[in-house]
Amino acid sequence: MLICEHVALAPLTTLGVGGPARYFAEARSEAEVIEAVEFARSRQLPLFVLGGGSNLLVADAGFAGLVLKVGIAGSWNFTTPHQDVLFTACAGEDWDTLVAQTVEANCAGLECLSGIPGTVGGTPVQNVGAYGQEVSETIREVRVLDLQSLQIRTLSNAECGFTYRSSIFDTTERDRYVILQVSFALRHGGRPGVRYADLQKFFAQTASGPTLAEVRAAVREIRHRKAMLIVPGDEDARSAGSFFKNPIVPQSFFEELSARVESRGLKLPSYPAADGFRKLPAAWLVEQAGFAKGYTKGPAGISRRHALAIVNRGDATAADIIALKDEIQARVLNEFGIELQPEPVFVGF
Ligand SMILES: Cc1cc2nc3c(=O)[nH]c(=O)nc-3n(C[C@H](O)[C@H](O)[C@H](O)COP(=O)(O)OP(=O)(O)OC[C@H]3O[C@@H](n4cnc5c(N)ncnc54)[C@H](O)[C@@H]3O)c2cc1C
Repeated sequence: MLICEHVALAPLTTLGVGGPARYFAEARSEAEVIEAVEFARSRQLPLFVLGGGSNLLVADAGFAGLVLKVGIAGSWNFTTPHQDVLFTACAGEDWDTLVAQTVEANCAGLECLSGIPGTVGGTPVQNVGAYGQEVSETIREVRVLDLQSLQIRTLSNAECGFTYRSSIFDTTERDRYVILQVSFALRHGGRPGVRYADLQKFFAQTASGPTLAEVRAAVREIRHRKAMLIVPGDEDARSAGSFFKNPIVPQSFFEELSARVESRGLKLPSYPAADGFRKLPAAWLVEQAGFAKGYTKGPAGISRRHALAIVNRGDATAADIIALKDEIQARVLNEFGIELQPEPVFVGF
């Protein structure tokens, strides 16, 4: 397999910033993944596994090891004895293409995740979610290369340790596995998920319930309006998606903050989370802290259509993005006592 040197990483990410990879390889098969890992080990190089680059901030100095892009292609499905349809896709497959195939096959479970950029292999890492669905609801198993043993293993859903925007892959077992394949158990003829307020509003005038295809089209349309769909030339979509996670706070903190915010004539929005906790919309906190949509700080800024997306307005560096991130975090902390956690993965910092 071809291992290249000094390969620019910015064009391989949706944010489009950052320096080069010292070494770079694209693996088209499981054997090539192992070959690349062995190359990195033989030279004692750190390894970074790259998918579609849609959830990354790469440092200006780049990455001083081997960047391994997982480009393994292929997908198939079969009906299980329990009437579920099991869709399996290799890690390098484009995520939205897989979602389109499942909707086309009239299988429910991924339709609300339409339009999310990146690869299939990237989705378990932060338990990708949107519009009321998360991949953890349908993932049956994940085939991985265990970098500790160099063995291929199959992890069950429970073993992936999924929580809100997280899993073992980005917490306890970070950097341990290369994801090779993901299997999703979907319901043939199942009803589409229309749990999220934006979607319910979209279909408010529809007498009969929407089809899976209609929900997919609606999600893509709503995403497009918010520049959360990658469209070539759309400057507001040159981002890593939402830059901060929605904070989950204890009920007591929520009540105390609600009262404080109310005394300023505002109502603190929130959603139910696990027992005794509330989820707060990070976008609201960012806007109320003084960062309107379209806010600009040099060549970095906030999307004109989504308060949570930090965008590269042209020739931003990673340092520009970090400076804006730091400013937002500091002001939200000062205003609300909440430390916003970034969602993208930082590479080479
Ligand atoms: C416009 C836009 C909208 C977005 N909307 C959403 C959204 O609604 N919901 C949401 O959850 N996310 C969203 N995202 C974030 C992003 O698209 C997802 O997190 C996506 O799943 C990342 O996949 P990727 O292949 O691009 O991974 P990358 O960005 O390449 O990598 C992300 C992380 O996953 C790891 N990784 C990737 N592939 C593998 C693999 N095969 N094996 C092991 N580790 C791997 C990387 O090492 C890294 O740690 C959005 C991003 C953008 C730019």
